[in-house]
Amino acid sequence: MAVLCAALPVAAQAPEEAHVWTLVLDPGHGGTDKGASGAKAHEKDITLAVAKRLRDKVEKEYGKEVNVVLTRDSDATLALQDRADVANGEQGDLFISIHVNSVAKKTRGREKIAGCEVYTCGLHKSESNLEVAMTENAVMELEPDYSVTYQGFDPGSDESYIIFELSQSAHMRQSVEFAGMAHDRLVSTAGRVGKGVKQAGFWVLWSTSMPSVLVELDFICNPESENFLASEKGQDKCAQALFEAFSDYYERARRPM
Ligand SMILES: [Zn+2]
Repeated sequence: MAVLCAALPVAAQAPEEAHVWTLVLDPGHGGTDKGASGAKAHEKDITLAVAKRLRDKVEKEYGKEVNVVLTRDSDATLALQDRADVANGEQGDLFISIHVNSVAKKTRGREKIAGCEVYTCGLHKSESNLEVAMTENAVMELEPDYSVTYQGFDPGSDESYIIFELSQSAHMRQSVEFAGMAHDRLVSTAGRVGKGVKQAGFWVLWSTSMPSVLVELDFICNPESENFLASEKGQDKCAQALFEAFSDYYERARRPM
């Protein structure tokens, strides 16, 4: 199983001069999978709007120098594995999966919880991190034959998450580096509360063979955060924050120390 994370990237890289730097953006959910919902907004719409704005900003700044690929650019239903397959097929240099957080309806004070989290693939260090990964991975249950596609992985079972203990991917250092940049910019530029850079077992990160992060922009169960996330201004600020983080990362990747 660990080969998914570790064995693909080196062989998959094109010769240096032929390779166009590729950024893959993955707007979470879509189509019949709405993701988390607030009083009026749905995660799938927010993630798509932010991803499109982020694409436009990168294309405006870098032109043809950076190839920006979206795993979906419409309200389409897309399987988790298909998202990773798009990223791997494009030989992406960085993968950003964009999501919006929520907590269970019975959670006391859920309308007050706020802040961004940025995840890399790994074994969770707390139950709340595991819950976020379980919620995001649960969308695979919407697919017929999901246990075949996902090799017996059960998104709701603690035991399934043991595989992520082995996911010390070749790209961990870069993933953590970008995660830190994204987190800092979401705080400084988008004004989100910083809840930290974390690790948990997200299938979509596990199966992409490049530096990869999953961003939870803020909590849609908090009405104030929902209003921000559903507004054009809020979506633009989130996209701007991720654009600045991308610039920080890309400039460093282009000019290694
Ligand atoms: Zn999500």
